[in-house]
Amino acid sequence: MLTIGSILVVEDETSIQNVVRTYLQNVGFQVVCVDNGPDALARAREMRPDLVVLDLNLPGMDGIEVAARLRQESDVYILMLTARSEESDRVAGLRIGADDYLTKPFSPRELVARVEAILRRRRPDRLGPVSYDFPHVRIHPDSHEVRAGDEVIDLTSTEFNVLLELAQHAGRVLTREQLIDRVWGVNFFGNDRVVDVYVGQVRRKLEKATGQTLIQTVRGVGYKFVDEAS
Ligand code: CA
Repeated sequence: MLTIGSILVVEDETSIQNVVRTYLQNVGFQVVCVDNGPDALARAREMRPDLVVLDLNLPGMDGIEVAARLRQESDVYILMLTARSEESDRVAGLRIGADDYLTKPFSPRELVARVEAILRRRRPDRLGPVSYDFPHVRIHPDSHEVRAGDEVIDLTSTEFNVLLELAQHAGRVLTREQLIDRVWGVNFFGNDRVVDVYVGQVRRKLEKATGQTLIQTVRGVGYKFVDEAS
């Protein structure tokens, strides 16, 4: 899968680290995690990430100091994670030059959206235009556009997200639960049949435009996107 950027995650809570890593990797970022300030500075020098997700409340060297040192050495983007009680830290962090902050507890989808927004806003040449190119369709996440040759396939926003999720995992099966979690997240108030309806609509639209069945049903498991040159 193509990588759209590299992210260094600095967070000492393993559960948060894991969620953040999973969500960022799922949209195509290369992710490295560390749990303290000195390691963060060392890895930042080594990997030159596009963005650092930085928890302010770290053992040893605190996040503000880490942010300040990162800033001395590079213009890497910094997204701070703060607790609700750390307002003074947040202000200090933004003064030092952090690009944005999220207050815990946060939704991982929100974090991904913020990361993408920072990278897109500040350095458009780095993140886009990125497209997922398959033999019969080309998917542009930034513009939410899907094309079959020159023809634009008209999808609703949810249909687009369903397709993008499947295409990002091309050749692999996603269960209905995985699709619900990744496309709708906590905003899902239906049952599994809703997923079948959306997938069915996307499949028909792709079939109409390409003459190919690009989304396969894997009985009893879920769905899989397969687009191979014939
Ligand atoms: Ca912490």
